[in-house]
Amino acid sequence: MPRYKYLAKEVLEQQKVAKGNVLLTSKPFVYLVNGSLKGLYCDYCLKKKRICTLQRCSGCKAECYCDRDCQRGAWDIHRYECKNLQRIHPLIPPDTAKLMAKVIFKLKNGGDQIEEKLSERKSRKFKDLMNHYTDLKDDKNRQEHLTSLIVVLRKYIGSNNLPNEVDLQGIFGRICVNSFSITDQDMNTAGTGVYLAASVFDHSCQPNSYVTFDGKRLMCRALVDMPSLDWSKLRISYIDVMNTTMDRRNELHRRYYFWCDCRACHNPERDKLMSSINCGNPKCTAPVHIDEDDDMDAPVGPCTVCGFNELSSDTRKKYCSIAKYCREQMEVMKDSYYLDLSQRGLEMQGDLFYKLNLLRVKFLDAAFEAAICVENWDTAIKYGMQNIEGVKFCYGEDHPNIGLMLLKLGKICLHVYRTQEALQYLKQAEPVLRVSHGTSHPTYKEELMALLQQAHEELMFMSQKKKKRINDISVICRTTCG
Ligand SMILES: [Zn+2]
Ligand SMILES: [Zn+2]
Ligand SMILES: [Zn+2]
Ligand SMILES: [Zn+2]
Repeated sequence: MPRYKYLAKEVLEQQKVAKGNVLLTSKPFVYLVNGSLKGLYCDYCLKKKRICTLQRCSGCKAECYCDRDCQRGAWDIHRYECKNLQRIHPLIPPDTAKLMAKVIFKLKNGGDQIEEKLSERKSRKFKDLMNHYTDLKDDKNRQEHLTSLIVVLRKYIGSNNLPNEVDLQGIFGRICVNSFSITDQDMNTAGTGVYLAASVFDHSCQPNSYVTFDGKRLMCRALVDMPSLDWSKLRISYIDVMNTTMDRRNELHRRYYFWCDCRACHNPERDKLMSSINCGNPKCTAPVHIDEDDDMDAPVGPCTVCGFNELSSDTRKKYCSIAKYCREQMEVMKDSYYLDLSQRGLEMQGDLFYKLNLLRVKFLDAAFEAAICVENWDTAIKYGMQNIEGVKFCYGEDHPNIGLMLLKLGKICLHVYRTQEALQYLKQAEPVLRVSHGTSHPTYKEELMALLQQAHEELMFMSQKKKKRINDISVICRTTCG
């Protein structure tokens, strides 16, 4: 069986780790293009393609590949799926069932012996991945999901191919808690994959490492300098950490069965700012915290900075009702952002919500993304600019998401000929993405670098044109005055 090679060449365990160093590269054990995105990415290499250029598998007509090489590469595992997909056509199994089937076929055909190395001494096999067997057994939602998946799997690959119940629980559990969402160059989700070596990383809401993808290949880089490479101390984020401590911890427990105990989860001051209002004194910019669980009739404040003390219990009630409304709207926008809804929320928040209030940051972010979707560029720039400080506060100054946001903002500015601003944002994105993505990643190399060059060229062209105009004017002056 193929043995995945030890790939973390750049860092050895005793060595110091500098931020930006590659800690690990990993190939997926199993993976797929998410069902809703089928036909947009090659099912083997996961590169984004124009739909017309992909070629369908002549057997099942379900899988798409760049070319014969990708089809051949995929056949290793697709040979077991292809006839089953043909048999159940036009039914299409849901993603998790497909992923489980891939694991089942892979394990049956020597996959249980495949190991991916972390270092010369450490490696991981599929069985080494956490399965949270007991937690999973007690999780009613997941058990219901598994029951429905088993029905699908019986139809899809046949009862005789199904392992026993304990093994099925194990496979399902490992997929639930170890899957990575594979993102493309534009940071949109493209697929889902299970990676053996990369499953070693624990979570932190303030991570010291960051995972990117180039096609299906996973790469993890250090976000901070470290005295040595200690695998037990490396942390990535399993979830989007732009949330309150309580919400983050609940989400992590619901999805991964642990209570996060990281540094960010022990920072009550951060949470206080995330639920603050402006103090009410027009000359003061300090926040005043509101606890929504406090007595509704209690007054707010006073401001600890300026002493302003005119916030009544009405302010508390008003804040709580707007916050409730905004959370409901956020739920509506769970899958896609709407410009009108996010603008309405921002209007209601008005001057009351503090600039670092989580709901303000989330609504500005929603408005930014929604405006991009409808190509309302100036509006997107307006909301993006307003939110830089808030996003930095929520993620931390140098978090890769800041780099990605600045890149997006720079790209839009360049598109609408606000070149000077574009250059400023792209320059700010550069050091962040150099660390998180590295100079060879397509987001850095093909996207950021190309945009920076374009911005420089346009500015040069404009300054030459201006010079020429000045010269022209002086020629006119000389001819008319001289
Ligand atoms: Zn391909
Ligand atoms: Zn096929
Ligand atoms: Zn945490
Ligand atoms: Zn004040």
